[in-house]
Amino acid sequence: DPRISKISSAIRVIPNFPKPGIMFQDITTLLLDTKAFRDTIDLFVERYRGKDISVVAGIEARGFIFGPPIALAIGAKFVPMRKPNKLPGEVISEEYSLEYGTDKMEMHVGAVQAGERALVIDDLIATGGTLCAAIRLLERVGVHVVECACVIELPELKGRDRLGDKPLFVLVSST
Ligand code: IMP
Repeated sequence: DPRISKISSAIRVIPNFPKPGIMFQDITTLLLDTKAFRDTIDLFVERYRGKDISVVAGIEARGFIFGPPIALAIGAKFVPMRKPNKLPGEVISEEYSLEYGTDKMEMHVGAVQAGERALVIDDLIATGGTLCAAIRLLERVGVHVVECACVIELPELKGRDRLGDKPLFVLVSST
């Protein structure tokens, strides 16, 4: 698709952020490019429209940028998957491991119903730990996760393998 290369070039890479040795993929420059940003959303909408998806679950923070326009376009609700102690209502939470220590992801109780079909969206998959936590959280309440979608994949970190047989759709692979 000719739109992909423009999307790829609109993503900026910042070396040594947030710490030395990390090449940070910065999607804020993609958001400044109105054509590339629209194409990004359109590519996801073209893939998921008509797939009977009732939930778009977006992972804090950048899943909150891409998720809502996709949800509106395909007629699904948007459900934020948040960092701990941010959501005001009753939550269910799922711990996951980071490079050092653990983190937690939370979702409001009652936001989704058993039997619903969900898409999980984030800006980027690295090791896959974050997406795995979101899948576990949704599956614990009986939701079927149809697919995970990211703008960027870092294939060297093999996050795709960690997702097992859960399908992953990405627009850009970055080496
Ligand atoms: P994972 O759990 O190792 O797959 O890391 C993915 C999470 O870390 C996502 O929520 C990303 O937003 C964030 N992340 C990791 N590296 C980058 C990056 O280079 N740019 C933007 N986000 C990143």
